[in-house]
Amino acid sequence: MPTRPPAQPGDSLAVVDTPALVIDLDAMERNMDAMARWAKTAGPNGAGVRLRPHAKTHKSPVVARMQMARGAVGVCCQKTAEAEILADGGVDDILITNQVVGAKKLERLAALARRVRLGVCVDDTRNVGELATAAQSYGATIDVLVEVDVGGARCGVQPGAPAARLAEAVARARGLSFKGIQAYYGGAQHFRTPDARRLAIEKATAAAEQSIKAIETAGLACDTVGGAGTGTFANEASTGIWNELQPGSYVFMDVDYAKNEPDESNAVPRFEHSFFVWTTVMSRRAGEWAVVDAGHKAAAVDSGPPQPFARPGLRYDKPSDDHGMLFAEEGVRLPSLGEKLALTPGHCDPTANLHDWYVGVRGLGRQVGALSMRPDHPQEGAEGAFVEAVWPVAARGAGF
Ligand SMILES: *Cc1c(COP(=O)(O)O)cnc(C)c1O
Repeated sequence: MPTRPPAQPGDSLAVVDTPALVIDLDAMERNMDAMARWAKTAGPNGAGVRLRPHAKTHKSPVVARMQMARGAVGVCCQKTAEAEILADGGVDDILITNQVVGAKKLERLAALARRVRLGVCVDDTRNVGELATAAQSYGATIDVLVEVDVGGARCGVQPGAPAARLAEAVARARGLSFKGIQAYYGGAQHFRTPDARRLAIEKATAAAEQSIKAIETAGLACDTVGGAGTGTFANEASTGIWNELQPGSYVFMDVDYAKNEPDESNAVPRFEHSFFVWTTVMSRRAGEWAVVDAGHKAAAVDSGPPQPFARPGLRYDKPSDDHGMLFAEEGVRLPSLGEKLALTPGHCDPTANLHDWYVGVRGLGRQVGALSMRPDHPQEGAEGAFVEAVWPVAARGAGF
């Protein structure tokens, strides 16, 4: 049973209870618009590239539909349960960028493929057989991409001949429709310098080209070449080989992504932080630290700690289950008891997964300090910021 929402539409930001996941709707929409606008003329000849944003970031059919309203052809997700929840929420074109293994899940997948356009990735012939059996028993057609390991060293077949052999197995199977390859290099997204990211995608490009060639030599058309994330999407687009890009984090942006040095050479859009953990100072030791109500259960720290947003000189550290500590540099004011402030999470996807609700806030503006509120100056910096929408993080949880 989900918890009670931390706010109601119409509430001012000041009364949103904590810890809560706050979305700056204006910033999120600017991020979506910037990516959609860029995609329209991306690619070597400016013909544009399809966007299929990754919904594992937000796990929300509402956010997915906002992306599709701006031209995305559909969304990606990682789990069968995510796909089901997105479909229930009105998303009608979903690619699971992952392997789905096990009879029970494959049956659910086949049932779902009768309701929406559904694709999945494969990297094993036995899995292809089981997928085809499930599709046939439900009278469904499932789109299939052969996942190629283009550098990530996780899932995927080797480039070239192994990719072609698997593509042939898919093409022979009834109930499956071979669509192309999935060529995603996850690790490259977070390489800090533009040069390191460019070099990584050059290697991925060679692996993708080799696979496409082998597949076409086998007499099959490789219509879709999918991949790319928020760190490298412009690199993949510039090759003209990838035609469906899957960035996810760009809607929210986290501290980790903000550490990537931007690529100045391309007209690559920049994205803003739109996603925060709203937290309250619950204890304080004057001159030493403040304690906030956001610990491991409110913000993921796998990519480093969250950072106080627009509060230079304040540092978050030493999280425990339900507490986090704030330390101030010399000369910087430590927040007072009851003060609310926003933390930018280190990693957006696993942070969203911890919460039941999104609190969508309108009118924060871009001013420094907009996301901080002192109980003794309740209006400071937050004039006009109010809750427009409260959405469930519908597909949250470990997933299955
Ligand atoms: C996570 C993921 C993405 C999106 O990556 P971001 O770094 O969040 O933009 C794209 N494609 C696949 C296959 C992924 O797993």
